[in-house]
Amino acid sequence: MKITAIETIVLRIPYTTGGSTQAEAWGGRAWATADVLLVRVSTDAGITGWGEAFGYNVIPATKAMLDEAIAPVVIGRDALAPEALQNELQQKLHIFGRGGPVIYALSGLDIALWDIVGKAAGQPLHRLLGGTTRERMTCYASLIRYGEPDVVAANVRRAVSDGFTAIKLHEITLPAIRAARDAAPDARLMLDVNCPWSLQEALAIAPALRAVNPFWLEEPVWPPEDFTALATVRARSGMAIAAGENAATLAQYHQMYAAGAVDISQPSPAKMGGVSELRKVFTLAAAHNVTVVPHTFYDGPAFLAGLHVSAVHQRDPFVEWRYFDLEAPLYGEAGRPVNGSVAIPQGPGLGMDPDPAVIAKYRAG
Ligand SMILES: [Mg+2]
Repeated sequence: MKITAIETIVLRIPYTTGGSTQAEAWGGRAWATADVLLVRVSTDAGITGWGEAFGYNVIPATKAMLDEAIAPVVIGRDALAPEALQNELQQKLHIFGRGGPVIYALSGLDIALWDIVGKAAGQPLHRLLGGTTRERMTCYASLIRYGEPDVVAANVRRAVSDGFTAIKLHEITLPAIRAARDAAPDARLMLDVNCPWSLQEALAIAPALRAVNPFWLEEPVWPPEDFTALATVRARSGMAIAAGENAATLAQYHQMYAAGAVDISQPSPAKMGGVSELRKVFTLAAAHNVTVVPHTFYDGPAFLAGLHVSAVHQRDPFVEWRYFDLEAPLYGEAGRPVNGSVAIPQGPGLGMDPDPAVIAKYRAG
């Protein structure tokens, strides 16, 4: 089965979060809309696969990588050999980067190809990867950064009332973090601070963070690839340490685990190499006694990819759910959690295709 076309599709979907979407931003610009880069791969057998590469402000660079560097190389190649193609293209393109838009683009392609492999076999992706006895996965609500303690507390209560028993904050100030704990005394509460501190600063604030009894502390130090510093925080803070959404490829997770940097590792399917790389990371992590809870701060194919691989490999059935209220979800209600858990899709491939009406309405490139 040959690849006949690669199409990149940019969506900009308005959303609300129960707070201002302008107040805080990652990546240098506020996220006024949830911006998605879909990758549609067509084949000569008439089967179409859907992937997703990391979105938001980096979309123009990743889109150019796919359209101009990757598509011309992969058209005509075997659509049923995603891992072979992933390995080959990582090596061919390595001089342009071992992370960032190169690997984001390869991730989107890889997810689409695995969707095709599943559809060609008539089997859900999880079954091709080893299968699962689970039907649903527990979700944790991953909240945006609100800043204001009152708004944080209100949204934590909203997530609890939606049925979530585990909630992740992106707050970095103690009043906001304490407000969340007061609002949900019994919840499993995770603190994702997105690399704000030096090692010394992280160690200084650690006792106050530990007092709110977090389930994990995520990315406490800058830069994220300083695995020695992470290992030091892990050894001295008394908290479980999570990181990994800013690593890519198997080799970087190997370095992370060898350094003893994390208790929980968070490979991001749309950033680190797609399904092909993610399943290897799960195996590597098991050998190092590291838990993997993928970064699935997505609503589309990258969320489903993380869901399928996690369903097969993960000990704690626990996935990240981006707690946005999208104006139009890509899969309608079928892809959304109900009472804090989400169904593992049972259709072929990823199990669901994006809604064409949503694509038509929100397409922006
Ligand atoms: Mg994070």
